[in-house]
Formats: sequence, C-alpha cells, structure tokens
Amino acid sequence: MLSWVVIGTAGVHGLTDSAKHGLDTPVKSTRDLEARIVVCGGGGFIGGHLLRHLREQGYTRLRSVDIKPLREWHQKFSDVDNLVLDLKEKSACYQALQGASQVYNLAADMGGMGFIEHNKGLCMLSVLINTHLLQAARELGVERFFYASSACVYNGEKQTDPNVTALREEDAYPAAPEDGYGWEKLFSERMCRHFREDFGVETRMARYHNVYGPFGTFEGGREKAPAAICRKVIEAKVSGKHEITIWGDGSQTRSFMYIDDCLKGTQAILESSILEPINLGSSELVSINDLVGIVEEIAGIKLRRSYDLGAPKGVRGRNSDNTLIRKYLGWEPSTKLRDGMELTYRWIHDEIARRSR
Ligand code: NAD
Repeated sequence: MLSWVVIGTAGVHGLTDSAKHGLDTPVKSTRDLEARIVVCGGGGFIGGHLLRHLREQGYTRLRSVDIKPLREWHQKFSDVDNLVLDLKEKSACYQALQGASQVYNLAADMGGMGFIEHNKGLCMLSVLINTHLLQAARELGVERFFYASSACVYNGEKQTDPNVTALREEDAYPAAPEDGYGWEKLFSERMCRHFREDFGVETRMARYHNVYGPFGTFEGGREKAPAAICRKVIEAKVSGKHEITIWGDGSQTRSFMYIDDCLKGTQAILESSILEPINLGSSELVSINDLVGIVEEIAGIKLRRSYDLGAPKGVRGRNSDNTLIRKYLGWEPSTKLRDGMELTYRWIHDEIARRSR
C-alpha cells in the first residue's frame, strides 16, 4: 500500500450541483478535501496545473503519476506523492490507484496536429491506459473517474467549412473522428460509459477543445497552435528576421480554451452527475490568421506571412457548442483569447530567455 502525502488542513465544502445530464432534478454533491485524488498524466501540461489547482483549494491527499522522468514534468510539487509509472501496464494502474477515491485520467501520448497526424499508432496505444485504469478503478472501488476526451472525436464531415456550426455533443455520431487519436478517444469514452452502466464505476467525461496557457509545450514537435505561434513570433522578433510560416492557408478556424477555464470545468464535471461526454471549450471562434494577428499585437511587431500548404492543418473549422454545459453547470469557459494569449506569450517569452542564458 502506498502512502498518501498529507498537506495542509482538511475540511468539507457543500456544493450545489444542477448537473444531471439526461435527468432534470438538481443533485447535491460534496467537495471533500480529504478525497484521495490521483492525477494520471500529472507530469503533463493540464495535469500539472490541475495538481496546483487542487493544492490551492486545500486538497490534502494528492498523487501524480506520469511515464516521464520527474525532471521533465511541466510542474511538480514535493508535497504530492509523485510516481513515475507506465500506465499502459495493468500492474502500474493498480499501483497508481491504490487507496484512491477520485481519479483524473489525463494520461495520453499526444500533441498538436504535427504529432497526431504522424503518430496514429502511438496515439491509439493510449487505449491501454484508460482500459487498465478503468479495470483498476472498478476493482479498487474508486468513487469518481474522470476521462479527458477531445473535440477530435467529432465527425469530420461536420468540420469542412471555416464558418463552422459549433459542434454539439450528438455530432460525434455517426462516428467519423480524427484518425488514430480521435478514434482512441471515442472508443475510450464508450468504455467509460459501459464501465459505469455495467460495473457501476462513476465515470465522467469532458471533450476538451484546444487548451492553452503557461507551462505548456512550445517546441519539440508536440506543441499546439497557440504555443507554436507565440514561439515563432518571439523567434522572429529576436532574430530580426521578421517572417512567419503558417501551417495551411491560415483561414482554418478553431476555438481555444484558457487553462484556468479547463481546470474549473474539469473539476466541476468530475463532481457533477453529467453522465455523457460534454464539451469543455471556449466558443470564441478565430482563424489561425487572426490568432497570429493577436500574437503580433501582443509582441508589438508585424511579420511577413508565408503559408505551408502541405503542413498538417486538421479540419477546416471547429467550435464548441456550449448549450449543454451552460444548462448543467450554469457556466462556460469565458476567458478572452486576447487575455489568455497575453499570459501565455509572456510565459513562453520568459522561458525562451531563461533557456538561452
Ligand atoms: P500532455 O502531453 O502535456 O500530458 C499528458 C501526459 O500523459 C504527459 O505528461 C505524458 O508523459 C503522460 N503519459 C503519456 N503516456 C503515459 C503512460 N503510458 N503512462 C503514464 N503517463 C503517460 O497533454 P495535455 O495537454 O496535458 O493533455 C491532457 C489530456 O487532455 C490528454 O488526455 C489529452 O489527450 C487531452 N486533451 C488535451 C487537449 C489540449 O488541447 N491540451 C485537447 C483535447 C484533449
């Protein structure tokens, strides 16, 4: 039996929760600061922020699990039980969830379009992580299990136009998701559903739409558009070569969710009675050209643009329909892209400066 590191003081908060997906009755849930919480993929971008967020609220028993060596974790905390394990292995999942009451599964082999278009097999292998975690959660009596799904589960045929109609949860079917990564997410959502229906594991699922913020990957091939564009603009500024190459023709559209909104929504969904996968994303739609314009403005520079039409660019348009999350949580991600990008740009700028010293 692994030890739980105890930090701070414990207490219990009552939360009113009107989130019952499929049922109309408001449900009351409790926020128990003594919950023994495991964040799988805790060495990653969202996982690291989630641990920080939970610590700040006074959660006392936290475990973080990741395959990467500790030195590569985006954020790490000495008062958290940090384990380096490969969660594709079944025995590792049992070790990770020993004594746990709540589990956030954020562990996946993933990255931006540049990574997922060229690593479909690797992306699909993440199915082992969620499968083994669910088996362990069932046998070990985990009370709540959160699965981080993705907007990549949505049917590609509904995303062929930059002036896209925002995606509603039902648009995932008939199934035609992003090849590799999206299929794995859709299958794992289904497995969460059936483990709840058949075995009583209390699974909850969010479909994240492009999350960005400080402490994210901004180089090396796994970075996503917001961080990649910040890095390119900073490099252009520093080098004096005032040019930027944009993947695709720049007219493809997306929405981007700031990390703080992601954390708030993730925790609320775990604590809710929303049984079906639900969108967790911003509905502020921008083109990639617009996003470059925002970063140029933050940097105080104007760059010559060239377009790499052969580069991975994903679907033509994607946005999050937030009708359901507004209905069930009375809330939706609302951080303005300009504000979130300012914070992200500053962090990447300082990191690049620090690393070059
Ligand atoms: P991330 O890559 O920063 O974090 C994922 C972590 O999982 C990494 O630290 C990685 O080392 C770890 N991991 C991978 N394989 C593992 C294994 N076998 N055992 C243990 N740990 C393993 O990604 P993120 O942006 O923090 O994303 C977290 C989750 O949210 C992922 O499931 C991702 O698919 C999902 N998601 C993210 C976004 C986004 O925009 N960031 C969008 C949609 C969905």
